[in-house]
Amino acid sequence: MADAKSDPMDVADYIIVGGGSAGCVIAARLSEDPATRVILLEAGGEAGSFMVQMPAGFAKMLLNDRFDWQYEQLPDPSIGNRRFIWSAGKMLGGGSSLNGQVYIRGTRNDFDHWLQLGATGWGWDDVWPYFLRCEHWHGPANQNHGSHGPVAVSPMRDPHPLCAVFMDACAQVGLGELEDYNGGAMEGSFLTQATQLDGWRCSTEKAYLRDARKRPNLRVITNADVETIIMENSRAVGVSYRRDGQYETVRAAREVIVSAGTMGSPALLMRSGIGPADSLRESGIEIIQDHPEVGENLQEHPGVTQNKFVNRPTINSQLRPHHIMRDLVRFLWNRTGPLGAPAVQAMAMVRTHDGLEEPDAQIHFLPLAYNVEQDTISSAEAEMPKEPCVSIIASLTRPKSRGRIKLGADKRPVIDHQLLGDERDVASMVKAMKFVNGVFATSAMQQIIIGDRSPDPIPANDEEWTQYIRDKALVTYHPVGSCRMGADDRAVVDPQCRVRGIGGLRVADASIMPRITSGNTNATAIMIGEKVAETIRSGR
Ligand SMILES: Cc1cc2nc3c(=O)[nH]c(=O)nc-3n(C[C@H](O)[C@H](O)[C@H](O)COP(=O)(O)OP(=O)(O)OC[C@H]3O[C@@H](n4cnc5c(N)ncnc54)[C@H](O)[C@@H]3O)c2cc1C
Repeated sequence: MADAKSDPMDVADYIIVGGGSAGCVIAARLSEDPATRVILLEAGGEAGSFMVQMPAGFAKMLLNDRFDWQYEQLPDPSIGNRRFIWSAGKMLGGGSSLNGQVYIRGTRNDFDHWLQLGATGWGWDDVWPYFLRCEHWHGPANQNHGSHGPVAVSPMRDPHPLCAVFMDACAQVGLGELEDYNGGAMEGSFLTQATQLDGWRCSTEKAYLRDARKRPNLRVITNADVETIIMENSRAVGVSYRRDGQYETVRAAREVIVSAGTMGSPALLMRSGIGPADSLRESGIEIIQDHPEVGENLQEHPGVTQNKFVNRPTINSQLRPHHIMRDLVRFLWNRTGPLGAPAVQAMAMVRTHDGLEEPDAQIHFLPLAYNVEQDTISSAEAEMPKEPCVSIIASLTRPKSRGRIKLGADKRPVIDHQLLGDERDVASMVKAMKFVNGVFATSAMQQIIIGDRSPDPIPANDEEWTQYIRDKALVTYHPVGSCRMGADDRAVVDPQCRVRGIGGLRVADASIMPRITSGNTNATAIMIGEKVAETIRSGR
């Protein structure tokens, strides 16, 4: 039922906007009931390309119009007015088809804090069963993991040899190795668990949608860019979308569920007249519901990299055609080597200073380096040095800085964020940088390091570190929070993810997170899809 024009089914019980990490889950789960008619509208295309399936293919898909929205950011004064292109998946599977495949849930405290923020029913004990329901764990038997769910999660198949050096260095600074970091507590070093099946990417398109779309009651329409939600008497009754230059509408007998991601969801609400009254007026949009927080509360993990020259081959020093051919053959033969690896292979969660309840920094080890220059607008287009290098990126797990999503002149989302807008984040990042410096100073690391690359020279005091941080800060592709869930009147959605003041309308994706979780965000977006689907099916 993939063709929009030949299909008479223009009315469904549920319309889902956005077939990403959360949207594919909701479409698949709701259509399990053969009596329920579901339409899934996705602005991007199919996700069958080899680049989507091969783990390292994301590097080629970034900044490619076919796969990546490349959302625009306003200059960020907290990092010297640099601005990034904020990548986001634009195809079935959304971010889960484009991302680095790191599987990480967050900590018990992350979700228990959501409870305190008014997200009733979203504490760790509440969300745990949904994490298990999503997952098919391919590692040794372990009670922290689900074994019957659709999303394949696998231990690292073939870690780069330098990951062992990183793990030794972590041990030398007192960080133990975690056997499993997905059980609710994360402090220590670990090798990545990846959303991969037999070494291939496992997106929600693959895990949930591919089989589900064979059902006659699920209609998937790709290249359908949803413009507005159709409202009647403060109730969502359908959507209008553009496909092949034509405008089409579909109607929802029960609900419209918006899963267009942290940038796409608030923008769609605003285009439909649900948002801050003043901004809507400025954009010439009729106000259906004054919702001051639509687009607000944007959060992202700010990251800063340090890198060193080393005496062993690394990925960036082996980007020559004969190496790539060798790696491709190796990947096709048994799905090992760099082309089969997730974006980050080894990590650590650390407390950068005493007195913290939980780790405040995530440390990402990369057997490669790339440049983050003053005027770089995307780390993906930054150059890689030819010499062997390693990097450690530190990102803050609980950033205090906040931003917002606005509508641009063309009514598309524009990001107005300050990565280091809160001085407390700058202070934490200085500590994180010194921690990373300590990891590089260990005897394990010193065996391979032959020179400083960035920073060079090493900053001598906090002031110099602060300047380095502002010059080099980067986005880590984990934006959340722009349609905040909560129990208060200003929250955009209630704990059932229903948009306040509007009937028949929910938001279900990373945008509802009241606070960013401690690590990468895909697992949580998938969990949100599972939980919201069950809420809907149970009639709440
Ligand atoms: C480059 C990159 C690397 C990442 N690496 C990791 C990682 O290694 N591990 C991890 O856990 N997380 C990672 N993430 C983050 C993670 O993938 C996201 O948090 C997650 O995918 C968000 O899911 P979502 O459902 O909220 O939105 P998305 O998955 O982005 O889904 C939104 C969907 O809506 C569609 N859409 C948007 N607007 C419209 C519209 N108007 N009409 C119709 N459809 C629309 C989009 O095309 C998309 O398919 C990464 C993200 C990126 C971009």
